[in-house]
Formats: sequence, structure tokens, C-alpha cells
Amino acid sequence: MTLIRTVLIASLTACTAGLTQAQEVNIYSARHYPTDEALYADFTQSTGIKINRVDADDAGILARLKAEGAASPADVILLVDAARLWRAEENGLFLPIQSAMLNKAIPEHLRAQPDASGGTAWFGLSTRARVIVYDKLKFKATDLANYENLADPKFKGQLCTRSGAHPYNLSLFGAMTEHMGEAKTEQWLKGLVDNMARSPKGGDTDQIKAVAAGECGVAISNSYYLARLMRSSNPADRAVTEKIAVVFPNQNSWGTHMNIAGGAVARHSKNRDNAIKFLEYLASPNAQNHFANGNNEWPAAKGVTFDNAALKAMSGGRFKSELIPISAVGKNQIKVQQMLDRVGYK
Ligand code: FE
Repeated sequence: MTLIRTVLIASLTACTAGLTQAQEVNIYSARHYPTDEALYADFTQSTGIKINRVDADDAGILARLKAEGAASPADVILLVDAARLWRAEENGLFLPIQSAMLNKAIPEHLRAQPDASGGTAWFGLSTRARVIVYDKLKFKATDLANYENLADPKFKGQLCTRSGAHPYNLSLFGAMTEHMGEAKTEQWLKGLVDNMARSPKGGDTDQIKAVAAGECGVAISNSYYLARLMRSSNPADRAVTEKIAVVFPNQNSWGTHMNIAGGAVARHSKNRDNAIKFLEYLASPNAQNHFANGNNEWPAAKGVTFDNAALKAMSGGRFKSELIPISAVGKNQIKVQQMLDRVGYK
């Protein structure tokens, strides 16, 4: 049972003697990042729309929406994985919307495929690279230029990852299926299992720390966990990042896999205009900068400049990211789960 915490953010607008109806928007959010608080406060301050927020993980939010049905008070849904956004769309939990602002700001491959009437069910609002981290005393960047290299026998007993069933891995593997086809991807996954230093456990940060501790030689992680360690005020965290190096894979082929965090209007939203306003706000340069500086994610919106030394240091400033329609990772997910079962990737 997922623990669901309700957070009320006090409205900064005083309702004058009850003469006006308070404007509000109800958000179900899987973004578990404390730095987002400032973003919500800024929205309320500039629009007068009060935010009521329910925090849960992706799976908890989807279960709650299904249980609530048409009675759901949810207006905006924020999830942190492309396949989960795709799944929620498939389950009819989102209301496709038309927003010229969002259509212009968010690249086509980072949003849902348009429906018959041109509506879009969800939009990516920030991106995160799934990178390779390695022990720089044991290996070189050229050993790990591509995701495919993770299956090379030279990494036998060296690889650490979180569970194969975690959405971040399911989405990476779904993208690999899109790029290489099912047979090659299954062979590759089998190679990953053969190379494991230990049975998958923990989160991405645990994999990075295990590389620094010498328990593994190679690991996979989302980029913001690494940036968080680089920017940590704890010297032990920064010491971890000095022992490891990072690769943005597949620069000479399809580019590094980018997952998204994204948003949608809930199917039964009662405050639709406010919901769209909030999503548009999240795609604005100000909010996009906030994602980059506060949570070390790359802006999803086009043409947004940002300043984050950790992101620049780890990526060299520019890198090639994959351009497949991100909805493909959802479409491939069942196939990936079956492959994981067949190769014994826990
Ligand atoms: Fe995460």
C-alpha cells in the first residue's frame, strides 16, 4: 500500500470577504524533489491559483486515479517516467489537451502522439540522461562508449544496476529494443545478467557508491543522482564522484537514452483551465530553469538556456541524445518484461 501524503500549500492570495471563488488546482505529483516547492509557490504568487498537492510515487498515483474514477479531484498529474505516462494514457486516465504554447515549447518526440482530434495526452517537462558510471582506475571511457559494451565479457563480475523491473531500466531497455530490435536486445540483456557483480538492489545512487567502493566496476544511473553527489555539501559524497567517471553513451550512433518527467491533465479534471495554465507554467523558461538548477535535469522546452555547473561538467556541455518518440518505451514495455524474465534479470 503506497503511503499517500497530502500537502497543502497556503494560497498567497487572500479571498476578499468571500466575494470571489478561490481559484485552485489539484496536483497529484510523483516528483519527490524538495526543490520543487519554490516552483509551486511562484506559480501561486504569479497567478493567484492555489495549489493542493498529493504526493505519491507513479504507481500509487495511477492506482489512486483508477480507484477514484470520475469522482477524482485531480486536475494535473506529474509522473517521472515515460513508460508510466504512456501507460496512464493507455488506461484513459488523461484528458488530451490543445495548447499552442506547449506544442511549440516541447519537442514532438518528448510528448504523446496526438489523438484523432489533435489533442496531446501528456508532455515531457524535463529530461534525464541514463548514463554509464565506471571506476576510472579499472576502465577507460573508450571501453564503454556504447550501451552495447555493458554486455562485453570484459566486464564479467563488474556490473551493478538497480532492479531490471524499475521504470528507469524498463524505459532504457524499451529504447534499446526500439534501436536494436528484440532479438539483439534480449542477447544484450543476457550479457548484462552474465556480467553482474551482484544481484540488483538499491537505487541509482547506491550503484554509483558501489563503484566508488570497489564493489562494482561499472554501473548505470540517471544523471541527476550523479549531479546531486557532485553538488553535495557532504565531502563524502564529493569523494565518491572523484573515484568514478561518466560516459554519455552512443554518441556515434543513436545518442544517449533520455527519460522524461512529464505532466498531463487528469481525465476528470474540474479545473481544466487552471490545469493547462499550470502545465504551461512548467514549460516556461523560468520553471525550466528551475528544473535544471534545482533538480539537475535538462530542460525539455526548446531554446531554454540554463546554468548548472554539474550538468555541464559531466556532459561536456553538449552531447547527442536519442530522438525516438519517447512513447516507444511504453509500447515496448511488455516485451521488455518478458525478455527480463527469460534472461533472469531480477
Ligand atoms: Fe529518480
